[in-house]
Amino acid sequence: MPRLLSAEAYRRLRLAVACLSAVLLFSGSASAALPPPGKNIAQWFEAFKAAATDEELYRFLYAMPKGGDLHNHLSGSVLDDWTYQLALDQARHGYTFYTRVRINNCRPYGGDAFGRDPYLLLFVTLQQSSYEHLDDCEKSEFKPLAELDAGEKRAWVNSMVLDKPHEGRDEFFQTHWQRMGDLYANPFYAADALVLNMQAFGREGLRYLESMIGVLGFKRADGSLYPPDEVADIYRRRLQEPDAIATGVTVRLQVAVLRFAPAAEDMLRTLYAFVARNRDLWVGVNFVGREDNDKGHPLRFLQTLRELRREHHGVRLSIHAGEVDEPNDHVRDTLLLGAERIGHGVNLITDDDSMRLMRHGPYLVEINLVSNLLLEYVSDYGEHPFPEYLRTGIPVALSTDDRGMWDSNLTDEFFVAVREYNLSWPELVTLSRNSLQYAFVEDAVKAQLLGDFAVRLGDFERRLQRQPAAVLASEARSHGFVCRRYGLCDLSLSAETDKDLP
Ligand SMILES: [Zn+2]
Repeated sequence: MPRLLSAEAYRRLRLAVACLSAVLLFSGSASAALPPPGKNIAQWFEAFKAAATDEELYRFLYAMPKGGDLHNHLSGSVLDDWTYQLALDQARHGYTFYTRVRINNCRPYGGDAFGRDPYLLLFVTLQQSSYEHLDDCEKSEFKPLAELDAGEKRAWVNSMVLDKPHEGRDEFFQTHWQRMGDLYANPFYAADALVLNMQAFGREGLRYLESMIGVLGFKRADGSLYPPDEVADIYRRRLQEPDAIATGVTVRLQVAVLRFAPAAEDMLRTLYAFVARNRDLWVGVNFVGREDNDKGHPLRFLQTLRELRREHHGVRLSIHAGEVDEPNDHVRDTLLLGAERIGHGVNLITDDDSMRLMRHGPYLVEINLVSNLLLEYVSDYGEHPFPEYLRTGIPVALSTDDRGMWDSNLTDEFFVAVREYNLSWPELVTLSRNSLQYAFVEDAVKAQLLGDFAVRLGDFERRLQRQPAAVLASEARSHGFVCRRYGLCDLSLSAETDKDLP
């Protein structure tokens, strides 16, 4: 096109067009003037961070192509606006759920308040077969989930979200899983939740999900137990349904050993062998459970893993380590166990030798910024070691952990990272690329995922260079965490959040 304008006038015109587009795109929202497009994306991103509102930054991060989520507990990743309907939907598989809405002092003094079945806990959810085993007094404390009134329903949904100032590590470890009760043991609920996660992550620009999902202790509607390989088939069938395939998200799964359980070694043997014979979908073993209970310390499992490695091949290890707020050798010992990825690694920063070992190394730390704050492993983001790892060459990726319980998504993790640590565009790209590079998926699929990421990134950067406002996601969905912490609660962002709640 013939150049009729001076360079400066042309630049201003482009800026005006970009601003107008932004205003049209976000009609009704305050929108800062976006910097004009530039050839150097890294430079442009610095100007964008300086000029953008939080909403614009969020929309940008939501739209940005991402890689995968490598640290995701499926049972803790059921978002609050999915849970209730998802539980009711299991009627089609013969399940009816009941939940405890009042306490009538049915059990005498002296019960176990800290086990799997604490009595003085509202909203413990049971399937019909478990409910039938209760005596009449306890039955009177429960209501069918489908019959909750509006207040009870809101409270039931909220009882598994960590959103109040006094709620933290103890609420999470000692009430959330216990309340979930038989929902935690339902393979169809888990399979549907997996697909909902794939859909939501797909909208955020992810193409890979490596989720920890249960296979032991799952119940049929009559209360009998499914063998783990039947649970695996339920997941396989669900992943072959059109809505799962349509997400374009590749899934691989891990199993998790409850590390401090008395029979944890037996569980490790069972699950390790399970992964070895279900390699089409399962790629690795993880260890979970609070690390401040040192009965599950890493070296407890060294001999068992050495035995298992004599028998099986190809079972990968990603293990929670250093998810504590006191110094110890857990990360170092976990590397000795054979772990290739470390979950959290918050206290790695206190171990100088392991910090040196991990720089530019083959091991990745799965960083969970939202989780670490809410579970009180850091009291403020100024204490988090993530930027030190990232900027001294320790491989890191961002992940969501138990996102349903924080009400968050992967964009929230990126938003926290950019807001708190001033991430650059190359750092954002590295984080996403790492989340594929360090995945346990087989090499051929990994190569495809990395190739696809490069193509999507190139396309995003080209669109950004043409018209920055056009790349900002118009249908970004934020969640409760950024609303509570950063005040990013705009209705257009969170319109879906409460739509099912009265
Ligand atoms: Zn975790």
